[in-house]
Amino acid sequence: MIDLHSHLDLYPNALDILARVNNENHFTLAVTTSPRAWVATSQVFKGYNNIKVALGLHPEVADQKFNELDLLLTSIHNTDFVGEVGIDGSERYSKTLGKQELIFDSTIRECERAGGRIISIHSRGAASKILSIIRKYPNCGIQIMHWFSGSITELKEAVEMRCYFSVNSLMLKSKKGKDLVSRIPSELVLPESDGPFAILNGKPIMPWEAIDVCFDLSDIWNISCQEAKVKVMENFDALVKAGK
Ligand SMILES: [Zn+2]
Repeated sequence: MIDLHSHLDLYPNALDILARVNNENHFTLAVTTSPRAWVATSQVFKGYNNIKVALGLHPEVADQKFNELDLLLTSIHNTDFVGEVGIDGSERYSKTLGKQELIFDSTIRECERAGGRIISIHSRGAASKILSIIRKYPNCGIQIMHWFSGSITELKEAVEMRCYFSVNSLMLKSKKGKDLVSRIPSELVLPESDGPFAILNGKPIMPWEAIDVCFDLSDIWNISCQEAKVKVMENFDALVKAGK
């Protein structure tokens, strides 16, 4: 199956689960939190062809990793996938908002210069800012809003811009999450685990469990779980096609 947002390098037993992830998922997007981590992880995950390592600079570490911005921008030309990038507008990171915006803006600009990339985006508390930056660079590629938690108005805007949304089982446990996801056209929905950060029933969601979000999606879409799986796989195929 597939997982469009996994912090695979951050599982405590990452090396032990690589083979299983590679066997059970025919595509796992392993996002990274810094360009240097991308370099190292790309080396370690080499040979696992179903695992794609995305180049990231997580907004929560914008300050600590700011000196890796040049490496990020030059490396965009050497990868098909970018993530995790974005802006975190929550109080805790308000001091680094300027740096976060600068990093995100230059990342998206560089994606456009490189001819477009598939980009996994963190937008907590900053969806409007994210969308206005994306709008500045209409040829930056394909955006996947990961664990979207913005307002309904922001969601509508992102849908109009034809962003994809990667959703996980945990986010569908809340009323707000469920309500938001029910408003996304089904053809824009993709599964993610966000493991090991997303913890369900005391355990991190594993990449091969990302597809289980289809149990909840089948409820929302009023179709069988099997049909929901077919649907998200079709969405993934369309995403890959559009990314080429
Ligand atoms: Zn993440």
